[in-house]
Amino acid sequence: MLKLYNTLTRRKEDFTPVKTGEAKIYSCGPTVYSFQHIGNMRAAIFQDITRRTLKFLGYKVTSVQNITDVGHLVSDEDEGEDKMLKAAVKENKNPFEIAKFYTDAYTDDLHLLNVEFPTFMPKATEEIPEQIEIIKNLLKKEIAYKTQDGIYFDVAKFPKYGQLSGRTLEQIQENTQERIEENTDKHNPQDFALWKFTTGTNAHHIMKWDAEFGEGFPGWHIECSAMSAKYLGKEFDIHTGGIEHVPIHHENEIAQNTCSGCVTKVGYWIHNAHLQVDGEKMAKSSGTAYLLKDLIKKGYSPIALRELILRTHYRKSLNFTFESLDTATNNIKKINEFNNKLDTLKTIENKSNNKIENLSKVHTDTFTQSIEDDFNTPKAFASLYDFMSEFNKQKEYTKQDIESAKQFIQKTDEILGLLIKEKVQVIPQQIIDLANLRKDAKENKDWAKCDELRNQIQELGYSIKDDKNSKEGFIISIINK
Ligand SMILES: [Zn+2]
Repeated sequence: MLKLYNTLTRRKEDFTPVKTGEAKIYSCGPTVYSFQHIGNMRAAIFQDITRRTLKFLGYKVTSVQNITDVGHLVSDEDEGEDKMLKAAVKENKNPFEIAKFYTDAYTDDLHLLNVEFPTFMPKATEEIPEQIEIIKNLLKKEIAYKTQDGIYFDVAKFPKYGQLSGRTLEQIQENTQERIEENTDKHNPQDFALWKFTTGTNAHHIMKWDAEFGEGFPGWHIECSAMSAKYLGKEFDIHTGGIEHVPIHHENEIAQNTCSGCVTKVGYWIHNAHLQVDGEKMAKSSGTAYLLKDLIKKGYSPIALRELILRTHYRKSLNFTFESLDTATNNIKKINEFNNKLDTLKTIENKSNNKIENLSKVHTDTFTQSIEDDFNTPKAFASLYDFMSEFNKQKEYTKQDIESAKQFIQKTDEILGLLIKEKVQVIPQQIIDLANLRKDAKENKDWAKCDELRNQIQELGYSIKDDKNSKEGFIISIINK
């Protein structure tokens, strides 16, 4: 029985889906105006684990992850703090191009991390009419109101505001009143924008749409209400997101959902904790807001990051260090070696005593129980390592033993996704580019350049060998450190 920790009730609950045998999951996705750091990758991997687990347990999964490509994107470069955004603006890219660039960079990372993609990945800019409809509904019910610069949600009209973070509106107001800048037009400091007009400081906003209540662009929260309702319906099962979304973004989503009636039930709200680097908050200023490609450049496999992330339970703060990434690299090496060894072991003809088969049965059970216990991946890893060590203690194996060991490893990889099967290894574009340059150098008989490029590829943690039978003329593989 799957158990999930529900942020709304603050306890672990048995998972009962809206529709028997089906699981509908909505996950808050990235805002694509800059590269996503490894903390964002933790959220992506957690979402992947929720989808894989439900699928593993036999549910028919429909999942959505939105891409926020509006709201934070501005035409005025002074408002963009991110250097890449500034660079993009300097290169005369418009916000749509910037969003596309960073969306592609994000999905490249997901491929490298062996994240299975959700059923739908809608973009906020492509779902504007749905958002406008909800805003119209809230205006009609007088839950939303119009000010000079936009349409706002009146939180006082939703008495349950604050329930996800376990606070009353009065408590929130006491704690935050002083910190919130005064917008005298707003009824309450916590009221949030559903729509911003292209007036005042937003007059030159490039992304804008017509609406009967005024030209402008949506606030951030409304897109998740609109997209979850559109793709999953009024009632769905699981809503995921980073812990930082609890006090504002998800409170606002619940307020919009409930008051407009677009979503009337979300069964379980689940949130992943933060990722720290060397015990401290990640920060661009201290150079610790690492990107996946930074790790690849240092010679690490993206899958090592995946292993590292999964070795900590999603609700615990994760401390990223390069030592733990080295450990992850070793762990992956061990699993790969074990898996490869299964193909080379000599087998005996004797009738099997079913020992390995039983071992694999027992460990499949403990693995499944761990994953069913609120996605306890560290415990699931323990089953895998324990199985490997028990298997290694045996002196001889029958074909049947090998087969059941292989099945066990494959089963665990349906969730862990550590790319045990070589054929699904994804090679980063950077490596492919270097390999292609090497191919050109080879055709030009520039052997020195060839060697130099081979060294560069090796430094990044990959090996290359020529292969006339392959389409590219070469084969790249990850060097297991
Ligand atoms: Zn969201």
